[in-house]
Amino acid sequence: MSKETKYVIIGGGVAGLGAIEGIREVDKEGEITLVTMEAYPPYSRPGISYWLYGKLDDTTMPLRDDSFYSNLGVTLMTDCEATSIDTKAGTIKTKGGKDIPFDRLLIATGGSPILPPIDGAEGLDMVFSFTTYKDAREIGKKRDKIKRAVVVGGGLIGLKAAEALNNIGVKVTVLELMDRILSLAFDKTAGDLVAKGLVEAGIEIITEDTAQKVVSDGGKIMEIVLRSGKSVEADALILAIGVRPRVELAGGAGIDVGRGILVDERLMTNIKDIYAAGDASEAYDIIYRERRVTPILPNAYGQGKQAGRNMAGTDEPYEGGLSMNAIGFYGLDTISIGLVDPPENGGYDVLVRLDKENNIYRKLVTKEGRLFGAVLVGEVERAGIFASLIRDGVSIAGLEETMLSGEFGHVHMDRDLRVKRLERR
Ligand SMILES: Cc1cc2nc3c(=O)[nH]c(=O)nc-3n(C[C@H](O)[C@H](O)[C@H](O)COP(=O)(O)OP(=O)(O)OC[C@H]3O[C@@H](n4cnc5c(N)ncnc54)[C@H](O)[C@@H]3O)c2cc1C
Repeated sequence: MSKETKYVIIGGGVAGLGAIEGIREVDKEGEITLVTMEAYPPYSRPGISYWLYGKLDDTTMPLRDDSFYSNLGVTLMTDCEATSIDTKAGTIKTKGGKDIPFDRLLIATGGSPILPPIDGAEGLDMVFSFTTYKDAREIGKKRDKIKRAVVVGGGLIGLKAAEALNNIGVKVTVLELMDRILSLAFDKTAGDLVAKGLVEAGIEIITEDTAQKVVSDGGKIMEIVLRSGKSVEADALILAIGVRPRVELAGGAGIDVGRGILVDERLMTNIKDIYAAGDASEAYDIIYRERRVTPILPNAYGQGKQAGRNMAGTDEPYEGGLSMNAIGFYGLDTISIGLVDPPENGGYDVLVRLDKENNIYRKLVTKEGRLFGAVLVGEVERAGIFASLIRDGVSIAGLEETMLSGEFGHVHMDRDLRVKRLERR
């Protein structure tokens, strides 16, 4: 691309960061402007729970230091919300009324928290969501007033909030509508093992129930009434049932939107020179062989980077995302990759090794000799190999038992497979 090319990125998450790095791999000179409505340059979003209990601080939260942006010639506009996109004129408008021209645009607006309607919750200052640095800071500011908290949502975000609060001495109750926590990313056995660890650490978990009403007195939360009729004493309520793709800006500009912003294999939207990436978009998933919203960090970064390269003139297809979730609570590491709860009639085989006493669990989901999914609890060291085997789509026939054992490693793969893996690095 020529020196004059103007790249604009909307969204300062990892997808936006990936795009900066992708663009600069190809084009060292074009102008890059990153517009983000948060007050901070890209930071570790999963890190907000670590920040809340002091494992990260303000100096370790940013994903890159300030010199990164100046060295790469990036204009960083924080506290700046893009309010519209004029696809014909090639400009975006900001809340302050500024028009910013672009030749190539990336929409990486991420997700917004889903806020379930709960009677009596509106307007109370001790009701929080848990997706931004600002959310964590708000909770941190008021931590002296929080002795008991109810977290609505037993998924990854809710449990991260619960862990952080528990670690700063708050008595926490997690409410989960399903019959188990982590129901989207993990299977029941893994969810139950994680739940056991959380309960041992002092967190209460109530499944098949949710918050229906907040009872408050003069603006102070007193208790949360559950759908079952039970009530839980609390002085704070954290809403953490997930995020939905933030597509309004794209939709308002005439860009095709399904659940997320729709992109082709080059991560370009239906409008030429406008790309989308990350939690806001529906990109190709290698297991499901379709476009899906998979709101996880490695996919967001990978899409952002690939979109950036393509914006700068390469013409490479996105290799496809793979759902991969890693969590570690109180010493128990748990990873899920790909398809973990296969449909019953889909022709999949499921192999399992469970050692409840030592909190070790392994599950493989295979079909016609290929690995489609895996769950690893306790022994997670070689998860990267499992992910590669799923990505490569090669046969693992005959290796299943070794893979179920903790012994499995590169040495067990045949030479061709090892060479293929090394070539991918
Ligand atoms: C508590 C928590 C824990 C998590 N843990 C994990 C984990 O362990 N592993 C994992 O893989 N994933 C995890 N995730 C998910 C992961 O953080 C996301 O998948 C990832 O951050 C998505 O990146 P993104 O760049 O697409 O979007 P985001 O990180 O959401 O960034 C989008 C940015 O765009 C900005 N923006 C939106 N609209 C506009 C606009 N109109 N104008 C300007 N700026 C705008 C937003 O303010 C935001 O800063 C976690 C998420 C949370 C909240």
